[in-house]
Amino acid sequence: MAKIEKMVYFFGAGKAEGNAKMKELLGGKGANLAEMASLGVPVPPGFTITTEVCTYFYQNERKYPAQLKVDVEKALAGVEQIMDKKFGDAANPLLVSVRSGARSSMPGMMETVLNVGLTEKTIPGLVALSGDERFVYDAYRRLMMMYSDVVMEKAAGIEPADDMGIRKQLERVMNELKKQKGCKSDVDLTTEDLKNLCAQFKVKIKEVLKKEFPDDPMKQLWGGIEAVFASWDGKRAISYRKIEGIPDDWGTAVNVQTMVFGNMGQDSATGVAFTRNPGNGENKFYGEYLVNAQGEDVVAGTRTPAPINESSKSEHNKDEVSLEKKMPAAYKELFAIQDKLEEHYRDMLDIEFTIENSKLFMLQCRVGKRNGPAAVRMAVDMLKEKLITNQMACLRVTPAQIDELLHPIIDPVAERQHKAVAKGLPAGPGGAKGQIVFSAPDAVAWAKQGKKVILVREETNPEDVEGMRAAQAILTARGGMTSHAALVARGWGRCCIVGCGVLEVEYAKKQLHVDGKVLKEGDWITLNGTKGLVYEGQLPMIDASRENKELDDFLKICDSVRKLGIRTNAETPADAAKARQFGAEGIGLFRTEHMFYGKGSDEALFLLRKMIMSNTKEERQKAIDQLYPFVKKDIKGTLEAMDNLPVVIRLLDPPLHEFVPQDAQKRAGLAKELNINADEFNKRADSLHESNPMMGHRGVRLGITYPEVSRMQIKAVFEAAAELIKAGKNPYPEIMIPVVCDVKEIEFQLQIAKEVYAEVCKKTGVKEIRHMFGTMIEIPRAALVAGQIAEVAEFFSYGTNDLTQMGFGFSRDDIGGFLPDYVSKGILPGDPFQSIDQVGIGELIKIGIERGRKARKNLEVGICGEHGGDPASIEFCHKVGMDYVSCSPFRVPIARLAAAQAAVKN
Ligand code: PEP
Ligand code: MG
Repeated sequence: MAKIEKMVYFFGAGKAEGNAKMKELLGGKGANLAEMASLGVPVPPGFTITTEVCTYFYQNERKYPAQLKVDVEKALAGVEQIMDKKFGDAANPLLVSVRSGARSSMPGMMETVLNVGLTEKTIPGLVALSGDERFVYDAYRRLMMMYSDVVMEKAAGIEPADDMGIRKQLERVMNELKKQKGCKSDVDLTTEDLKNLCAQFKVKIKEVLKKEFPDDPMKQLWGGIEAVFASWDGKRAISYRKIEGIPDDWGTAVNVQTMVFGNMGQDSATGVAFTRNPGNGENKFYGEYLVNAQGEDVVAGTRTPAPINESSKSEHNKDEVSLEKKMPAAYKELFAIQDKLEEHYRDMLDIEFTIENSKLFMLQCRVGKRNGPAAVRMAVDMLKEKLITNQMACLRVTPAQIDELLHPIIDPVAERQHKAVAKGLPAGPGGAKGQIVFSAPDAVAWAKQGKKVILVREETNPEDVEGMRAAQAILTARGGMTSHAALVARGWGRCCIVGCGVLEVEYAKKQLHVDGKVLKEGDWITLNGTKGLVYEGQLPMIDASRENKELDDFLKICDSVRKLGIRTNAETPADAAKARQFGAEGIGLFRTEHMFYGKGSDEALFLLRKMIMSNTKEERQKAIDQLYPFVKKDIKGTLEAMDNLPVVIRLLDPPLHEFVPQDAQKRAGLAKELNINADEFNKRADSLHESNPMMGHRGVRLGITYPEVSRMQIKAVFEAAAELIKAGKNPYPEIMIPVVCDVKEIEFQLQIAKEVYAEVCKKTGVKEIRHMFGTMIEIPRAALVAGQIAEVAEFFSYGTNDLTQMGFGFSRDDIGGFLPDYVSKGILPGDPFQSIDQVGIGELIKIGIERGRKARKNLEVGICGEHGGDPASIEFCHKVGMDYVSCSPFRVPIARLAAAQAAVKN
């Protein structure tokens, strides 16, 4: 590893060595602390040890670079100078916190130690400084709880049995004392009680961990630093990284910072806030706080916090006194700071603050997580406020967040007819239903069996993430909008309700009490995460394709930025209309054969089968003539729904044998219609059998052997279009030939098209029918001879399903057997049928476009394989210069966003 230039970055007193852009090196927390300090925001002074040191630590058997000790001591001296206090000093002691901070936030996944530097020697000094002995012993017992857990147990690699961890054991000691003293809450313990408790803690720690709790401040500091580095490799952190796709080698930084205390009495507080509402995007300062509380109390969800102002009030906390009322001066300063920070960062921020004896300190700021609806609203609003540009707005919403807006909700009509059994805080949007489970492992196990579950917990903690991930939704009895459950669910856009105080959860019996009822594990419940309502049983859901003005406005911003056109794959007028509503600018693939599948297709299918089973040209022509009106009607309906926009109509593609009836009754009916006996019928059916149908008699090959079948379809297209033109419409069909591998195939089809076109014009009296004639590129050879093909074809549409199949030689229908192994063993980075394999198949695409456009400059190029709705593939399509992507109607909004993001990024 290269030499580390600088290991420690100082911040404080209006200055900092780092800045917000240095997240890779300083982690998100450290980089933003530095930025805030430089902006003159009141940040307790401190320093950040870089992620490079973390990397070194893991590459060198958990040792540090030699220089680190000196650098840390120097930075600590700088902090002492600003604070006019000394770390470990008996009379005037400085205390610090030691916190983790990775490049991207991993809420609660790594460790923190507070109150470091408190020892037998410094306690009297802090008592004298604070004038509050009770506070000092409370801080001391907190330090012992955290330190023994994080440093002496977890970082030491000790894995205690359930409920036997040191923290749990110390909690039991404390609860026992509270019981003895008849105290309800921690705050009822007296100074003497706490002194006594600290003494008991020391004994317990020694007894359980066979080591003394260190009474040396430097030992505490280095123990804390090592524990934070070690927590990067903790189980929780590893599993979170896996879910979020965060690389293992990023490492964490360590932030050592002067302690400020929110628990110094009634004029102290601690809180978490957002510069705008992260639940709905409203431009209102939003947050929660707790009076006389320290550090993580708000996020831990153990006490339901109070609102910071009027606009943060909810059903739950409306009777609590807001920070604005309780500490007006501190609130005013906080408000001004959040305003300044949002303007500086040009984004919604999540901030943590502490008020110590009425003095405000900022402990953290970072770009805040938000759900889909909030992300969209903020992007639109901030653009209007001229805080951001169109381009920036497009990057503010992820494709998954758009997906969230298109997510199911409880059918509002049904919802009105049901009474909720409980109400909590709406922490994650949309609706969800599932069977109750009470533990994260159960959620994972049930979900593996294909069950839909809702994870119900008193509160969640980072240990629960995998279960939360596996669940349809999360419901907790405790905690506020900034509790762990709420933060995590919001990040994922998952339906979630927190702080549902009326729930009484009994883990041991796997049941809960609510509204006078007992609900057991496996019982169904339905959640409305947008409103925080819980219903018993299963309520019907509806999709979210309803009108959404904000989403429309946002997607229009995307449209103004993107270069790619967006079309849809649709086969019915209804789907075409829906896709048009979603913003599709045409159809990129109309699969003709779809009219023979599904509801209402019996008659057309019968005639198609008759055509297939015909033996002579005459017989076949008769069937074709009968089939013709069906085909024309279908095409006409879709051309009409997409009036003025292009519609790519693909001629029949699938192998004929797929349509041969298997059931005896259907065979008999067809035989009768064809006037042949069963033997003859079976003989014809057998002759259509293929061992490798995907590479058999399909696509253009049908049109080569049966030109009359192509002729009929092309005629249907032109006649439908002519009729629409006569009716004053403006149809624009693009006739597409599938499974082409050579220019001669398409020349042969074009000849037919030309003849039919002339006939139809003559017959209908229509002078011109606007149309194009082109082909799919879905066979590797076609990509290679694209130059020749483009001499004849006016457009290419990449059929990347087949191109991937034939490029890899992986059967589309049989990959289930081996692909998971390819991915889990790292042979392939992912499923190439989901996201384009850019190195291999992508190369074929590039070659095809290059050679095609060389032959025909204005060749239109699009994609109609499933990849057309995948954001990474869409970016690729943008880069290689395609004109449009085509995807299923529901993916159209996502494709509009992905296309805009591709344009901004490239
Ligand atoms: C393709 O092959 O990518 C394609 C769109 O056609 P189909 O999926 O119908 O084979
Ligand atoms: Mg295909």
